[in-house]
Amino acid sequence: MTTLTTVTLQDEVHTLLAQLGVSREAYTGGDLIVRTPITGEVIAHVPRITPSATADAVAKAHQAYLEWRNVPAPKRGELIRILGDELRAALPELGRLVTIETGKILSEGLGEVQEMIDICGFAAGLSRQLAGLTLPSERPSHRMMETWHPIGAIGVISAFNFPVAVWSWNAALALVCGDAVVWKPSEKTPLTALATHTIFLRAAAKFGGVPDGLAALLIGDVSAGEQLVASPLIPLVSATGSTAMGRTVAPRLAARFARAILELGGNNAAIVAPTADLHLTVRAVAFSAMGTAGQRCTTLRRLIVHESIYDTLVQQLKKVYASVVVGDPREPGTLVGPLIDERSFKAMQQALEQARSAGAKITGGDRIPFPESPQAFFVRPALVEIPTQTDIVKHETFAPILYVLRYLEIEDALALHNDVPQGLSSSIFTMNLREAESFLSAAGSDCGIANVNIGTSGAEIGGAFGGEKETGGGRESGSDSWKQYMRRATNTINYGTELPLAQGVSFDID
Ligand code: NAD
Repeated sequence: MTTLTTVTLQDEVHTLLAQLGVSREAYTGGDLIVRTPITGEVIAHVPRITPSATADAVAKAHQAYLEWRNVPAPKRGELIRILGDELRAALPELGRLVTIETGKILSEGLGEVQEMIDICGFAAGLSRQLAGLTLPSERPSHRMMETWHPIGAIGVISAFNFPVAVWSWNAALALVCGDAVVWKPSEKTPLTALATHTIFLRAAAKFGGVPDGLAALLIGDVSAGEQLVASPLIPLVSATGSTAMGRTVAPRLAARFARAILELGGNNAAIVAPTADLHLTVRAVAFSAMGTAGQRCTTLRRLIVHESIYDTLVQQLKKVYASVVVGDPREPGTLVGPLIDERSFKAMQQALEQARSAGAKITGGDRIPFPESPQAFFVRPALVEIPTQTDIVKHETFAPILYVLRYLEIEDALALHNDVPQGLSSSIFTMNLREAESFLSAAGSDCGIANVNIGTSGAEIGGAFGGEKETGGGRESGSDSWKQYMRRATNTINYGTELPLAQGVSFDID
């Protein structure tokens, strides 16, 4: 285990915020208390937005959209290119701030900002490719085509564990599509949001002529998110968080026919088949299950292992679980940082208790005390060998718990794999082509992400990201996810002198 340094984190955070250009009033004197999970100490008191200021921000964003939609898309892409440059310049400070605010290890904090830079590159290119189809018309001298138009000011609600990348996946695309963006970040991570917003404003000033309020930030709790969801000026909300949140938000959006991109909880599994390359599998499982202290939506939570290799693999994993370095996420050797808070620790302990009463054998899972930071919650990741897929295994506990199950026939492994309410990410480790292709086929994994010989976490921005069932069905980031941020118009143009009707209908008024 690494040791915690005694430098106060509040000082370090305030220095980072100043370096990033955030004004002191934005993080002092308010009543939203921000703690770092590294020590549990208070690092900021952030003022919350009032309901009337929220309403103003939404109205302003709508006005900004009315202007922004008329700016040519490649020009809008230029703003995002500049945003990417600003993020690149801010990478060391913002990445470190992500680490301090969320507790993820420094390489992951920096990786999160890198992901923001990457999506800006993607979106800048996309701004010249918002292409619609031209389709054959059934009528002579007619042309039929699709055009894509901006839809309005969109809402983004984000979770604590990816405090800034999720905003960028949505905002970079939405802004090149001609929308405005109103962001309600997690109440646990307002500082990285403030820093990101400041970076955006810097990019906007360099671009020049960006309508005021084009990207708004609502710092507050659930009520600010509720107001955003209820606003008739917001035609789309992209909401990332727990399935419980999605259950509240989705019907409210549906009631006013607004669009929803829902990115909710996962319960991701990997099947390890007899031919798997075990060396590679152990590394992939270790990162997917223990990385980010088990606090990724794509974290590996269930490992379904063939009977013939079960003992060998579990023995190797136990060694890794016992030796993985848990501690200060700022230290280079650390692989597992703290849980976000006490609530998360208690949820983990309750899940382990339930697994124990279902006959599970548990390795790890205990709290690792740091005398100098009694309010922090560091845990040794838990490896839980469990005889059957009980209710607790089917539930997403947002902590580093990996349930291990056995199988004999691949059909049984697949059935176990799909028999959970969530459907985000999945993997198979095999050198058998039939197994790999079956896993990716229509009858295979029912998840939005299905991988072969890599873990469940660590998706690239180029692909569409999201999951099925209780994960919500949304898709963000790459591929053609941009289409959700635009409205499609089908246009038919008659360049002839006759007026033939579709389907051969005749309506002769002469
Ligand atoms: P959370 O549901 O507690 O909060 C997420 C966000 O939703 C916060 O900003 C919160 O203020 C807001 N919110 C909550 N209730 C709301 C309501 N009724 N109306 C409007 N806004 C509301 O989630 P969390 O603890 O921050 O994050 C962890 C969860 O997020 C896990 O379940 C994880 O799997 C999920 N997650 C999913 C993805 C994905 O892409 N599928 C990515 C990251 C996290």
